[in-house]
Amino acid sequence: MLPCQTPIPDAILLDYWARDLHDGEEMNRVEEHLFACGDCSARLHQTAALGAGLTALVRQGRVSGIVSRAILNRLQRDGAHVRMFWLAPGETVPCAVFPGDDVIVTALRADFSGVDTVTLSVTGPDDSPFGRCDDVPVSGPRGEVLWANPAALLRQLPSMRLELTLTSTGAAPTELGRYVLEHSASTPPI
Ligand SMILES: [Zn+2]
Repeated sequence: MLPCQTPIPDAILLDYWARDLHDGEEMNRVEEHLFACGDCSARLHQTAALGAGLTALVRQGRVSGIVSRAILNRLQRDGAHVRMFWLAPGETVPCAVFPGDDVIVTALRADFSGVDTVTLSVTGPDDSPFGRCDDVPVSGPRGEVLWANPAALLRQLPSMRLELTLTSTGAAPTELGRYVLEHSASTPPI
């Protein structure tokens, strides 16, 4: 058997497994592809196995980047300690990691009308690059981008100001929102 020439992206397989594909057409395309493709079906089984251990992965600090609402719901249902920070465009929000936190999710709200995908770029002090996620799918006038970071990683950060920017992807990128996290370093254990 030839390897798959048009593999379904991991993020879509994970969303399919978590039942987060709101787009019925995409759901049908994925199902048709899986029906015909042994490669991608095998990957879906691996994804399902990974999903069952998702909370374990979170506790190991291995879940980072953009997560879908379905994955977030699943983490919370499975008992992971998720700390959320919600930001609207232009907002500055203080953030910190507390004992017992497994993962920190920064939820960025914006008006994504007419926009399919965005780029999230995060900069630290003196515009130093801190993180970047490309081609993040978004939808709707009251959409959200969920950016996850392992608590274990953030505990190591000094106090600092992080600036997050969402820009539409495409030929004429437009800034959709700018947000600031004022991160306070955790109080060291006494
Ligand atoms: Zn395939």
